[in-house]
Amino acid sequence: MPDVLANKIAAGEVVQRPASVVKELVENSIDAGARLVRVFTRSAGRDLIQVVDDGCGMSETDAVACFRRHATSKIRSIEDLEQIQTLGFRGEALASISSVARVELRTRRREDTVGTLVKVEGGAGRPAEPCATPAGTSVSVRNLFYNVPARRNFLKTPATELRHIVDTVQSLALSNPATGFELRHDETALLRVDAVVGDDRVRRRTSDVFGADIGDHLVPVSETTSYLRISGFVGRPERHRKTPADQHLFVNGRMVRSRYLAHAVKSAYENMLPEAAYPFFVLFLDLDAQHIDVNVHPTKAEIKFDDERGVYGFVRAVVKKALGMADLIPQLDEGANLPGLMTGVYSALDAERDPSSSTAWPGQDWTTQSSYASGENTRPEWAEALYGGSDAEVKLERRPVEGELRYWQLADRYIATPLRSGLLVVDPVGAHQRIIYEHALEGMRSGRGLAQQLLFPETVEFASGDFELLLELLPHLRSMGFEVEEFGGRSLIVRAIPADVRQAAAEHLLREFVEEYRLGRDRGSLSREENIARSIARRGAVRAGARMSPTEMSSLVDQLFLCASPYTCPSGHPTMIRLSTEELARRFAR
Ligand code: ADP
Ligand code: MG
Repeated sequence: MPDVLANKIAAGEVVQRPASVVKELVENSIDAGARLVRVFTRSAGRDLIQVVDDGCGMSETDAVACFRRHATSKIRSIEDLEQIQTLGFRGEALASISSVARVELRTRRREDTVGTLVKVEGGAGRPAEPCATPAGTSVSVRNLFYNVPARRNFLKTPATELRHIVDTVQSLALSNPATGFELRHDETALLRVDAVVGDDRVRRRTSDVFGADIGDHLVPVSETTSYLRISGFVGRPERHRKTPADQHLFVNGRMVRSRYLAHAVKSAYENMLPEAAYPFFVLFLDLDAQHIDVNVHPTKAEIKFDDERGVYGFVRAVVKKALGMADLIPQLDEGANLPGLMTGVYSALDAERDPSSSTAWPGQDWTTQSSYASGENTRPEWAEALYGGSDAEVKLERRPVEGELRYWQLADRYIATPLRSGLLVVDPVGAHQRIIYEHALEGMRSGRGLAQQLLFPETVEFASGDFELLLELLPHLRSMGFEVEEFGGRSLIVRAIPADVRQAAAEHLLREFVEEYRLGRDRGSLSREENIARSIARRGAVRAGARMSPTEMSSLVDQLFLCASPYTCPSGHPTMIRLSTEELARRFAR
């Protein structure tokens, strides 16, 4: 097979989109020991991708050779293959890219006085020419896929392609804090970060990449076992996005995509997130290279572990523990959503987001695979270590100031109460839903939900479909506190309802419950019990506009803090917001 053809075929795998070119070129720069890597793009990489570094540069011979397939300076033996330290190792990237684009390479080693210019087009190179160029390497890739119309037409909207480029550069920047990065698109600076060193370099790099305010939203994650080490940060629940863009995972320093592990992280948030939300994370997994196979895909973005389920369970448990230890009350602060430089870009991009790039992970059920991580079956040794402690202390800290009742209701809805460390504002609607939800689940588990007797038992007649459905759910309803019996025809008689449900709801409760239950079932991501609990919570909670006495407010807030996940309602919206004294000081500029 002629080389040109082989390269074009390989290109199909290595170069899927402009972002893949960016990734390969930047990784080469990092491998070349660059201190600063600059990326310039035009038309989301279709017209131009240029990567300029101040790394070691190449000799004239190497500059010509590097476009040949399997020309890599990074692997010399089979042993090298076992312990790959550099990011590139197949020697295919430049050959592949140059077979589907017009490439110009300028490079000079520090010790040479004259640099080398090599132009390659459609896989065919012209002779090298001497040129004046700074020490380091500059590769420009123009008209990507000009000779592969199918690929070119297959590209997504510029916004999507640019988002992938930004994502890629962010990832590379996160995993290489000792290198400075710059990304400019059509003359706009999208990212500029200086090299950072020191123990907190990952946190600093993360803030530099995502904007200083991300710092307030980071929950540190760190755990080591004999098999695996995990470190990095996950975002507090409120710092989620509607696309997986802000999820960065590195295995032994390599950026990888793993929907499996992304799912493990998300599942650790349990019901703290809305359904279609993606939590923020920057996580580094380090383990013995013999436990992984990075070679499953030429772009090296996918990965296999020899103990996939173990890794899933570990990641989930570690993140869950980190979230459990963190103070997760949403903070009231400015610009809570997005950082400086990126804000404009993302809001523009979000508007244009194409749905295909943000499809949620299909509703696969991993829970069975990871059930030991939640402590149901025998736990591995690391899980014991993780769950040994409790977060009761943290909870106590969060309790409002004791003593006289100090609760105010704002706008006939929100409850404000002072905390030791600031002011807490609670939304009683979400809070009440959370309480009912957890009590209902507990009731169904134990079969002993608390009931409140109705003064006058009620008979309710149902449409036929609804009636059968209710009969089917009757055991569940009873275990969470309903006293319900068949009453002839398609009627039920209700003598008691769950204790937390607001009294006034009794009359319509079961009717509205059926309706809500159906909606939840059609959405399909909840277990039957979760759906029942959620439906009762949504229909049985206080409504906006209900006046509450100080005693009611205090008991609601107390009960909320006794919940397992007090910070969000069952649909994932916040139940409370805190204004810290630090934030107040900041705002008063003291
Ligand atoms: P790989 O990175 O897998 O070795 P590439 O096709 O990406 O393969 O690169 C081929 C070779 O070209 C590299 O092994 C390296 O020697 C050289 N090279 C590529 N980019 C640079 C760069 N920016 N600076 C110095 N050398 C480079
Ligand atoms: Mg490479």
